[in-house]
Amino acid sequence: MPLSAEYSSRRQTLLPGFAEHKIDGLLVTSLANIRYLTGFTGSHGALYLAPGKAILFTDPRYTLQASQETTCDVRILTGSLFPGIVKALHRLKPGQLGFEKSQMPYFAWDYLTRESKSRYTLVPVDSLVETQRMVKSEAEIALIRESVNLNSQAFDRALKRFKPGMRESDLAAEIDYQMRRLGASSTAFETIVATGAHSALPHARPGETRIETNQLLLIDMGATRQGYTSDMTRTVFTGKAAPVWRKRYQAVLEAQQASIATIRDGARTVKVDAAGRQVLKGYGLDKQFTHSTGHGLGLEIHEAPRLGKRDKNVLRAGMVVTVEPGIYLEGQGGIRIEDTVLVTASGCEILTPTSKELTVV
Ligand code: ZN
Ligand code: ZN
Repeated sequence: MPLSAEYSSRRQTLLPGFAEHKIDGLLVTSLANIRYLTGFTGSHGALYLAPGKAILFTDPRYTLQASQETTCDVRILTGSLFPGIVKALHRLKPGQLGFEKSQMPYFAWDYLTRESKSRYTLVPVDSLVETQRMVKSEAEIALIRESVNLNSQAFDRALKRFKPGMRESDLAAEIDYQMRRLGASSTAFETIVATGAHSALPHARPGETRIETNQLLLIDMGATRQGYTSDMTRTVFTGKAAPVWRKRYQAVLEAQQASIATIRDGARTVKVDAAGRQVLKGYGLDKQFTHSTGHGLGLEIHEAPRLGKRDKNVLRAGMVVTVEPGIYLEGQGGIRIEDTVLVTASGCEILTPTSKELTVV
C-alpha cells in the first residue's frame, strides 16, 4: 500500500483501542501522531478522531497544504486553535474524550476542561498512537532505509574531508551540509562530534576544540528524510590507537553484536540490553555503560520501544530500533557504536551499511 493510502487505514486500526481506553473520541495534539494518522506535515494543528470522523484543525497558513496532504475534514481556525476546537466539540458531543496526556499543554487542558459545558469529559490517554507507530509498514521501512543510507553516505563524504586541526564544529557543519546535499530535509538531531575527553560525554555538543591526531573521534548523526529519521554512531581514531583503546573498542563492538544477536520477533528488550552489558562486564567495563541500549525511531528520533535495563517491551517484526552501547571514562574518552536495526520474524536486519571495523582516519 502506498503511504498516501495508509493514513485512513491507520485511523481505522486505532479505533479498537478506543473501547479499551473507554473513550468515544480522541483529540490528538502530537504533531508526529497527526502526521502518522493524516499525512499532514504542518507545524500547527490538532486532530479529532471518532468512529467515522476525522477532523484536522489548523491555521490559515496551511489551508492549501492541509487540503493537499490529507483526506480529513479540514477546519481552518485563526488565532489559538482551542476556542474553535471547543466550539466544534460542543456540536460533536464526543462524551468521553481522550487526550494525549504527555502531549497536551496544561493551558489547553485547563481551557478544554473549563469550557466543556458537560458536552464531553476529558480522559487522559497514554501512548495510544505511539504503540501503533512502533511497528512500521513496508512504506515506512522503505523511507527509513533511505534515511539510513543517506546518513551513512554523508558520514563517508564528511570523513573524506576531515583534516587534523579541524574544529569539532567544522566537522559537524560538514556532516550537516553533506546530509542536506544528499536529500535530507534536516538533521534528525544536533550532530554530535566529540574528540578526546569530550567523547566521554554521551551527548557532547560540538565546540571549538580542534581534532588533533592520535585521538578518539565520536560522531553521532541522523538524517530526516520525508519525515523519517536515522541514527548512527561511529567512533574512529585519528591516527594511532593505543592498545588499551583498541581493546575497549573491541569490547563495545562485541557488546553491540551480542545485543543485536538477541533481536528477533518476540525478544524481550531487557534481554537485548542485558546481552551487551554482560559482554562489557567480562571486560570490567559495565559500570562505564551509563545509558540504555537503544530506542525505536521513525517519525521521531526517539520513540517507543525503549531498550533499557528496566523496560518491559517485547520486540515485534517491523519495529525499527537502535542498538548503541557505549562506555565513558571521565577525563579520558568514550566509545559508542550505534546501528539502526529492523526486527524481523527470524532475527533482524542491520540497516546501517557503515563498517564497524576499527577505523583510522
Ligand atoms: Zn545516535
Ligand atoms: Zn540513538
